[in-house]
Amino acid sequence: AVSLTDLTKSFAAHRAVDGVSVDIADGEFFVVLGPSGCGKSTLLRLVAGLEIPDRGEVAVDGVPVSGPGLHVPPEKRGMGVVFQSYALWPHMDVRGNVAFPIESAGRSRRAARQEAEGHLATVALGDFADRRPAELSGGQRQRVALARCLAGGARTVLMDEPLANLDPHLRGAMEAEIAAFHARAGATTIFITHDQREAMALATRVAVMARGAFQQVAAPQELYERPETEEVARFIGRAA
Ligand code: ATP
Ligand code: MG
Repeated sequence: AVSLTDLTKSFAAHRAVDGVSVDIADGEFFVVLGPSGCGKSTLLRLVAGLEIPDRGEVAVDGVPVSGPGLHVPPEKRGMGVVFQSYALWPHMDVRGNVAFPIESAGRSRRAARQEAEGHLATVALGDFADRRPAELSGGQRQRVALARCLAGGARTVLMDEPLANLDPHLRGAMEAEIAAFHARAGATTIFITHDQREAMALATRVAVMARGAFQQVAAPQELYERPETEEVARFIGRAA
């Protein structure tokens, strides 16, 4: 479970995230949907611990990780992340990047590498295991990050537009992989997108975000049938 309380972050005079509060239940697939620049990535970076809030709190399974005078570093939050800035380890090959969380969980090096190859096949990168991240395209790096996330077994997973740079065919396949992974592992997931169709397909609940704040948080069907503002209606593709 992830709880956000009045989470707020400004850059100079610009309030990127403005008083966001929400309780995300264990195993939820929570989608944050909103236009470019509305504060989605900043919000996720606050949850991950890559940004320090000006105000407010983040708690994971009831334990505060960000708050007044408290900052648990990202690597101690036990979260799997797929971010726009890919954050793969540049000195390791692709196989090593994906095997790392498996080995960290106590598997043998050999078993971890074998399992990593399975995850790489899942994201259609079976032939790229020996390459370094620098030798991949942006979309390929994103898929490696996705494979590493699938491999990691984290109870909390944060994904910032993991499908955005992929071609339509791959995008459909990866969307199905993410849904299957969630059904299998049941990780509490926060997933960012600006694609309303993707949001509606994957979410248990959707938060529609604009200007740093949540405009409405509801199940996809509810959001579609009862948008509370015209902005929400417009964004989920339905006239109010
Ligand atoms: P996109 O869909 O384009 O990824 P987003 O919703 O993820 O957009 P953010 O990246 O969270 O948006 O940015 C929110 C606002 O904060 C934007 O106006 C952005 O320019 C600003 N911003 C984000 N990071 C910084 C930073 N490090 N310094 C200054 N301004 C920033
Ligand atoms: Mg973003």
